[in-house]
Amino acid sequence: MKLKAFHKLSYGLYLVASEYQGKKSGYIANTAFQVTSDPEQLAISCHKMNKTTQVILESGNFSVSVLNKEVNMKIIGDFGFMSSTDIDKFNGINTITSKTGAPIVLDSSVAWFDCKVVSSVDLGSHYLIIGEVLDAEVISDDEPLTYQHYRDKYKMYSPKNSPTFIEKSILDAEFSASVGEEKEPEHEHIFDGESYVCVICGFTYNPEEGDPSMGIPAGTPFEDLPDDYKCPICNAGKEYFKKV
Ligand code: FE
Repeated sequence: MKLKAFHKLSYGLYLVASEYQGKKSGYIANTAFQVTSDPEQLAISCHKMNKTTQVILESGNFSVSVLNKEVNMKIIGDFGFMSSTDIDKFNGINTITSKTGAPIVLDSSVAWFDCKVVSSVDLGSHYLIIGEVLDAEVISDDEPLTYQHYRDKYKMYSPKNSPTFIEKSILDAEFSASVGEEKEPEHEHIFDGESYVCVICGFTYNPEEGDPSMGIPAGTPFEDLPDDYKCPICNAGKEYFKKV
């Protein structure tokens, strides 16, 4: 079985949020999709170890915000790679409360759905949670973010708890076995010089490109980055970067 085939499945990227007893929780998901139209129902696949999963099951509600293509990477970093036990992900985030009681994130979003949980399926590592859409709204006509765009732009992998996670070593092995068949692996950035990978989230710092999102001009060597430089995706400090 060639696992890279799974990278040919297309997805969007969404922010799923819920609230129970005054505690908000949220995470970034690529597996949010409409499953029926009458009634309108969405499904999400949530890792059992994900804090938001528990909050959704307890509250019986969740919201899905459709992220835009120019998404603020701090949102991806905080909601995609940090735990609610370590930081308040919702600090400074513009939200409204939905009919079901779920918080709806408006920042970097083009549309949202407010869902009441109607069933869940135990898939082993994950729950597939089905929600009936009680309300929905379009925020802007900006282009939604696709998972492909995210992967191409940021050279990122799915986090370990994602339903679409694949071990990097397996992808590397598949690539090695297929050299000659393909031009370039989509999961690996090729540079002439050195690059630095964030060991937390997989973001690659390429000195030739710099990091425009953090105001770092092209051509800045890693050693010359300011001491307080942080990974634009997960906020990890320089000490978490490894030379490759
Ligand atoms: Fe990172």
